[in-house]
Amino acid sequence: AEGDRSLAEGLRAYRSGGEGFEGVLGSDFLLSLAPWVERFIGEVFAIEAEVRALRERTRSHEVVMAFKKHFVLRRARRYRGGFPWSFAELDQWLDQEVRRRGWSGEDREWAIARLGEGWLEEEAAHAEAIDRLTQWCGLILQDPQAALAVQGWSSFRLPQRVDPEALVPLKRWEDRPGAPLVAAEGSLRCRDGFHLTDPRMDPRDVQSEVHYCLYCHAHEGDFCAKGFPEKKGVAELGLKVDPLGVILTGCPLEERISEMQVLKRDGWSIAALAMAMVDNPMVPATGHRICNDCMKSCIYQKQDPVNIPQVETRILTDVLNLPWGVEIYALLTRWNPLRRTQYLAQPYNGRKVLVAGMGPAGFTMAHHLLQEGCAVVGIDGLKIEPLPQPWLEQPIRDWSRLQEDLDDRILLGFGGVAEYGITVRWDKNFLKLIYLTLARRPNFQMFGGVRLGGTVTVEDAWALGFDHVCIATGAGLPRMVPMGESLARGMRQASDFLMALQLTGAGKRSSLANLQVRLPAVVIGGGLTAVDTATEVQAYYVRQVEKVLARYERMAARSGEEALRAGLCAEDTEILDEFLSHGRAVRAERARAAAEHEAPNFVPLIRSWGGVTLAYRKGMRQSPAYTRNHEELIKAMEEGLYYREGLEPLRAELDRYGHVAQMVFRQMHETEGRWLASDQDWSMPARAVFIAAGTVPNTLYEREYPGTFQLDGDHFQTHVAHPRGPLQAVQVAEHCKAPESGPFTSYTDHGGHRISFIGDTHPVFHGSVVKAIASAKAAYPQVMRSLQGLADGGGDLAAFQQRLRHLLRARVLRIDRGNPAVVELWVEAPLAARNFRPGQFFRLQTYESHSAERAGTRLQIPVLTVSGAGVEGDAVRLLVLQWGTGPRLVGRLEPGDP
Ligand SMILES: Cc1cc2nc3c(=O)[nH]c(=O)nc-3n(C[C@H](O)[C@H](O)[C@H](O)COP(=O)(O)OP(=O)(O)OC[C@H]3O[C@@H](n4cnc5c(N)ncnc54)[C@H](O)[C@@H]3O)c2cc1C
Ligand code: SF4
Repeated sequence: AEGDRSLAEGLRAYRSGGEGFEGVLGSDFLLSLAPWVERFIGEVFAIEAEVRALRERTRSHEVVMAFKKHFVLRRARRYRGGFPWSFAELDQWLDQEVRRRGWSGEDREWAIARLGEGWLEEEAAHAEAIDRLTQWCGLILQDPQAALAVQGWSSFRLPQRVDPEALVPLKRWEDRPGAPLVAAEGSLRCRDGFHLTDPRMDPRDVQSEVHYCLYCHAHEGDFCAKGFPEKKGVAELGLKVDPLGVILTGCPLEERISEMQVLKRDGWSIAALAMAMVDNPMVPATGHRICNDCMKSCIYQKQDPVNIPQVETRILTDVLNLPWGVEIYALLTRWNPLRRTQYLAQPYNGRKVLVAGMGPAGFTMAHHLLQEGCAVVGIDGLKIEPLPQPWLEQPIRDWSRLQEDLDDRILLGFGGVAEYGITVRWDKNFLKLIYLTLARRPNFQMFGGVRLGGTVTVEDAWALGFDHVCIATGAGLPRMVPMGESLARGMRQASDFLMALQLTGAGKRSSLANLQVRLPAVVIGGGLTAVDTATEVQAYYVRQVEKVLARYERMAARSGEEALRAGLCAEDTEILDEFLSHGRAVRAERARAAAEHEAPNFVPLIRSWGGVTLAYRKGMRQSPAYTRNHEELIKAMEEGLYYREGLEPLRAELDRYGHVAQMVFRQMHETEGRWLASDQDWSMPARAVFIAAGTVPNTLYEREYPGTFQLDGDHFQTHVAHPRGPLQAVQVAEHCKAPESGPFTSYTDHGGHRISFIGDTHPVFHGSVVKAIASAKAAYPQVMRSLQGLADGGGDLAAFQQRLRHLLRARVLRIDRGNPAVVELWVEAPLAARNFRPGQFFRLQTYESHSAERAGTRLQIPVLTVSGAGVEGDAVRLLVLQWGTGPRLVGRLEPGDP
């Protein structure tokens, strides 16, 4: 801050922990510093003109915001006079006024706002025009017909009262008791495939949200960040609980939301991003369609809150869309002058940490430890695709280079459940950005297909030279629902379906993966996993039947229908015919829609085949999806789902082939706010049943190596570590803002090594991406303190990294195709070979990015579960039966293939 000496001195004091930066003073200081960061970045990247243009574009909406305030909210809403002109006359007059000034009518909202604001500059001289414009606005507010003229205008979008009991607009499908609930009239959306389902707000709407904000940091009332207190200024009373029973914690990261919005309001987009990144360097993994804890705690409790996630995502994308936007984000993760700590990445400090799990918790922990100077090795049990080498070595000018259509994007496998659970409602290209910024760090290594407890044990970690292990392995097993025939064909865990859909790429046209789903489908559960499963089943079903039809026609043309069907049993033939007829119906709908130049609408077809029903044991209003993130329910219902309340699953009933045919439920009834079982059963046809009853934290390691950790119920016992003192068990904190979350497990050894656990594995941070990120933010300072007590680290980092590459990478060593029924594969994987146990299973899969595409089909080995058949030196022997397409591709592998 050369240009401002006192600010430069302030910055020095800020960094050295000086006083005077608490509360409002700190906010004011950062707000005066942030524009300097923007100017500096503009200069460094030589993009001053583009940054200025973005600022002007952002500020160009100012006039519309002023018009909304002065005319719509103040004058028109309070107008009590008469309406001597008709709406059409006023509308025509406005058009003439716009034309008279030579403005194009393209952005009519802007032009009319400009007119009005111009007149207000000389109010007395333009009293009549102001009056007429007020009437025009007034008629729009009163008359739905007139309102059509301003459809989609930010200036006329007014906050609505919030009724916690009616957050999701619904109606009964048919006018009879027992009919399912569906989305309200006129709100169905046509979805086709796996493209991003939500285009987000446009820049003007976002500015409107920004202007709606009251910038409460100025009086320390920014509850969106800090949490909504029971009583302001009396911290002992704790946080408020909303009418749906949710503790209003605000943003788990305490992101400086109010300050960020002030900067965005004034056009400082890079500065606003830097402000958000003070507390949330992983900002691409938060925001729109991911989190809403901030909105829930906004000061507006009785009317719509400020849509902060939309604002945050807009700020990020505005910066990414600048030339070198990717590099600006990457720079701000390593260097951010607005941060009091970690404003600059530290040089290597000799400490090495193994982070198990590369979901949001794990990648955030990796980031913070790298900033502190540690070397970090991230492992994940699942495959992680490599990034193109040039991206790692050369700066990227255009964000568009990283962006892919989600419908045919290569699933990188980085990001845990954010990657393979959360659906295409959220732009997963953002995960690639985080992956890229981490992968470029020289002190970071990452290995996919390496499981803590399988390939690497805790003892291996110490023997390899690690100083700390952080467990970020997410939620473990799904909760089971006790019911009859739960293992029958057609019954699945919802999370298995989502994972198979994404990890095998089954939803892609080019994929060979086999994932059979039939309709009608029932999804049992009330959380986001159930909601996501239901929407994806619908989208996938359409793709599946189209794929079957197209492949069937191609194969039949080659070998004849008779030959094709010869090997099929009666059940397979039935299913094939069902899929072919549905495939033809989908094709006909596509043709119809194309002829009428509109998007195909598959909802009526899906409904005619029985549809997809969400079945929950209580009312929707009690479901976790409703209480925590009702927007997701609104959007999901818009895709045409059915919702049935009060259904407790009892059993599945099977057809003559042993496949599920219908579900039987116990009916529940609401009495005085409680859902109680009745003595009535209720059945519905179901060819696919998905169970989404929640998950429990991952404590699998303790099951595999009993005695390693103390458990507390279904999770690791939470511990705190006192400086140089022993670990101390603590109770599970009430919420993620509690001062002591207990980030350590009970583990400690003679060398003083400790093991932390974060994210979904941790009972306090379980359940959301932003909480997972917050858990790493809360835990890393304690991890750093615990490292101080250890014997000197150090050693040659390059040699350490080289050794890990050798031990943890898997590649084909030898392949024997001598027996036509079985391929014998030797895979070099030294650590896996060392820890091999007879009967152990391995996942065999190739990288999608390394697999060739032939005639629209990707020749990738999908996930195969193969049992290990012994070891020889550093190699594991796998025997793959040549049964099915995937296993046959194994025979095409060559020595050296990863
Ligand atoms: C369908 C669905 C929708 C969701 N929607 C939302 C949403 O909209 N918003 C939101 O905030 N949250 C959502 N969530 C929850 C959110 O995704 C999780 O809370 C979050 O991903 C937890 O992050 P994590 O890093 O703790 O764990 P995870 O994301 O589960 O990552 C854990 C990683 O560890 C790996 N792993 C597991 N065991 C081992 C091992 N032994 N060794 C090495 N690696 C291992 C896994 O492969 C995984 O990659 C959703 C979850 C699901 C299932
Ligand atoms: S988002 Fe809501 S709580 Fe936060 S500063 Fe704005 S108005 Fe206040």
